[in-house]
Amino acid sequence: MLMNKNTIEYLQNSLHNFYSSFARDLPWRKNKDPYSIWVSEIMLQQTQVKTVIPYFERFLKLLPDVSHLAKIDIESLMKLWEGLGYYSRVKHMHQAAKIIVNEYHGILPKTALELLKLPGIGLYTAGAIASIAYEERIAAVDGNVHRVLSRYLGLPITKEELLPLMDELLPSQSIGNFNQALMEVGSRICIPQSLPLCNECPINQKCQAFKKQLTDSLPIKPKKLNRTIEDKTLLIITDQTHYVIRKRPSKGLLANLWEFPLLEGSQTINEISAFLLDLGIDEFDLKVLPNSVHTFTHKDWKINAYKITTMKLNPVDHYTLVSRFDLNQIYTLSSLFKKYQEYYQ
Ligand code: SF4
Repeated sequence: MLMNKNTIEYLQNSLHNFYSSFARDLPWRKNKDPYSIWVSEIMLQQTQVKTVIPYFERFLKLLPDVSHLAKIDIESLMKLWEGLGYYSRVKHMHQAAKIIVNEYHGILPKTALELLKLPGIGLYTAGAIASIAYEERIAAVDGNVHRVLSRYLGLPITKEELLPLMDELLPSQSIGNFNQALMEVGSRICIPQSLPLCNECPINQKCQAFKKQLTDSLPIKPKKLNRTIEDKTLLIITDQTHYVIRKRPSKGLLANLWEFPLLEGSQTINEISAFLLDLGIDEFDLKVLPNSVHTFTHKDWKINAYKITTMKLNPVDHYTLVSRFDLNQIYTLSSLFKKYQEYYQ
């Protein structure tokens, strides 16, 4: 598809001016260090900028380069990530760091094609790192950028359909700034649904959606996935000194994280008593805690929670007894349990 030359030049020039004057002063923009850009891009997936900033600063202070990341043990790394969620991100980073040390002399590969070979790096992240750190002429299209361009061009196209058009839109230089300007407009101005701040937008003069009042209908919505709801029963079991936890399997949701016993379904009090008996607990106080919902991409877990207090806990197969201090300082729990931290901290 050949686009109007004026439309493209206007987009490139306006974004260049906007980024030069109004780009936010973010810690990962202080230099073009590929490692910092990689860490920030991974943290920013599914997470807001203001949440990421303190995590990013702490991460870079403790792990200033790829070799430090490759060397740290996975438990300490997950603890450092605790609260950001989506732990597969950091596990992939750890694997990728080892590959970068062993196969790339500790320096992130310089092209998107090479970056794509690393665990956890997809098209968007590869494009972002290669264009921002190395000025490769390549696009970085995430949901924000897709929304801006679909509206600007007035085209009801999917992200996949937009990708082949990007070569026409990219400028010949300052590619990293062009990509970041698009991300910035998408996250601060051309925001989702019917809320874009078109009057403040640096590209509004030639924006088709603004001109034709199409901002409500663009971009086209992806097909909704059928969400499922699963009931779970959470048991915070303590003798006031220790807690019962176990490690989740290495595959599947919340893989390798630690958890309090989390039973399938909404268990009755009799079923809970039978479970506790298997742990050697026959006398206990049971307190009903508030229910909660934990949301994953395709499903929700409805959590029915209880606190079980008993006189003494004994070690049992497949479970670990930990002190309150160790539970809070050493073991990485999913954010699912954070909702109940007042009951175990
Ligand atoms: S003018 Fe409005 S719809 Fe168009 S890109 Fe800017 S914010 Fe988005």
